[in-house]
Amino acid sequence: MAHAVSIIQSTQLDGINPSLRDPVEYRKSGLSLNHIIGCPLDCSYCVRHLFGNFDQRRPQALMTDEEAFRRLVTHQFFQPHITPIQLFNRATDPMLPEVKPHTHNILRLLDAQELTNHVLVITRWKVSKEDCDQFNALKHIKLSILVTYSGIEDTKIEPIKSSIAEKSLKTLYANAERYKVVLYWRPIIPGINDTDVHIEKARALSAHAHATVFSGLFYRNEIAAFYRENGIAEPYVNTARRKLLPLDAEQRLLSTFNQYGSQPPIFRKTSCGVAYAHHLADYNGHYGITELCDTCPPLQVARCKSACKRPDRSHVEQLCTQLGATNSPEMTARAIVVRGLDEQRRYYIQHTLGFQVHDADKPHHYGRHGRAEAARSTIDVDQQY
Ligand code: SF4
Repeated sequence: MAHAVSIIQSTQLDGINPSLRDPVEYRKSGLSLNHIIGCPLDCSYCVRHLFGNFDQRRPQALMTDEEAFRRLVTHQFFQPHITPIQLFNRATDPMLPEVKPHTHNILRLLDAQELTNHVLVITRWKVSKEDCDQFNALKHIKLSILVTYSGIEDTKIEPIKSSIAEKSLKTLYANAERYKVVLYWRPIIPGINDTDVHIEKARALSAHAHATVFSGLFYRNEIAAFYRENGIAEPYVNTARRKLLPLDAEQRLLSTFNQYGSQPPIFRKTSCGVAYAHHLADYNGHYGITELCDTCPPLQVARCKSACKRPDRSHVEQLCTQLGATNSPEMTARAIVVRGLDEQRRYYIQHTLGFQVHDADKPHHYGRHGRAEAARSTIDVDQQY
């Protein structure tokens, strides 16, 4: 295809963070493809701060779609029909006018291979009826469009109006035939967008989605520095490597949703919302982390329960040894606990077995499921279910 964004010249690559140069990365939610980088939307909490490219506002491609696709499906950990995939979730928005031809092209390339993997597209930008038609034309992939909506009105924190996401959500839901729509309600920031009015607005919007997922703010040192430099009030006294959401805010929003017998339901975990929307069991094995499941409808709990089998010990040993584990893995009802495997190897096992895999050196604690309590100064920060 003709490229809607220009390809970065090899001579320009030196100025780009090395971790952005590799377009395929294994993250908790699956293999993430990011061969286009650059975004003009300027959300203050953007992960681009972490890669030092927040100032790169014009999307540019690292390579052609065909080359990026080849790298994705030949990645050492890609498994056809199993590995979840995310498009452009690190350094741009997949529905920006110049990016979306590439988004549709990659989706078509995946679908043409008759792959049935989950594919997640996360956007806060404009989605048209024509985009929906293109999504509906895909026959094989399990496509989910997650619409990021915050309800934040302070343009220093979020210059983009939430009304754009609202409109996209409604368009997507009204036209959904072969894909699912998730209201991705985030980031929820205490004192900014967690009032009863904000919560009620999100609850009303959830009627235009197959599922809702909520989460707090990803508040890292680089983002805190940006807040200070730009005179934005810091919402937390501490930074953390996982998302922050105070317990009382979580309880208030869940009680509002429960009060209306929330239908469709609300989830803490992205994969839970996506799996529910497709009438499938969670692919990240969260069922073992029982405290996550209290918002989930009984039918979905039963689905996950029957799919969540404790893996065969010898198979787990074999996989862990092959991948370079330095201990004999421990197996609990919640997770496989192993030492010496980096995140991508742990996620590879997690998606292969549909069972959580944790690092023995970073113990997980009951109830710490992406809701670090901000007032605490020593947050155990490396835990992401
Ligand atoms: S039962 Fe638990 S693991 Fe399964 S989708 Fe619901 S919340 Fe997620």
